[in-house]
Amino acid sequence: MDVAELRSKIRDIKDFPTEGILFKDITTLLKDAPAFRTVVELLASRYGQERVDVVVGIESRGFIFGGAVAHQLGAGFVPVRKLGKLPGKTIEVEYELEYGRDALAIHEDAVQPGQRVLVVDDLLATGGTMAATLRLIEQLGGQVAGVAFMIELAFLKGRDKLKHHPVHSIIVYE
Ligand code: AMP
Repeated sequence: MDVAELRSKIRDIKDFPTEGILFKDITTLLKDAPAFRTVVELLASRYGQERVDVVVGIESRGFIFGGAVAHQLGAGFVPVRKLGKLPGKTIEVEYELEYGRDALAIHEDAVQPGQRVLVVDDLLATGGTMAATLRLIEQLGGQVAGVAFMIELAFLKGRDKLKHHPVHSIIVYE
């Protein structure tokens, strides 16, 4: 399945969750077996020749791809979650949203110093969520091997916030 066909499986929902947002609904792609498999293979194949010790997925849609990519690469999986969800000791990071602030957490023993980490999320918009996640990984001493998204909204220039890392996306909206 090619990228144009993958793109056709994503459903646009106007004004969700708030007015003015064109929401990229990926559930229509996920339920399509060949499409889901193709995305996971495209995300993972890029890192097939590199050492990846753990894949970090960002709550919640990053878990769907992160878990599958970790399985494909033979790597472990580590969740980055909203505050109050992880049961063990965590480190936390706050980041700016369009309106207000939010925070993310990771278990303090989830990544060992020097481990090579691939970070996966469904969609790159402004890059704030991923930039905050990278700060958590670096605080634990992890080495970011790559940053991968299924979808990139390139017009929001999220890549600029992730300059120091190799960013890979499959479906790009200019
Ligand atoms: P950002 O921090 O701005 O890069 O936003 C990234 C997070 O918000 C991702 O985890 C996406 O799931 C979600 N997101 C942002 N914009 C959209 C959109 N237009 N459609 C679907 N999800 C979005």
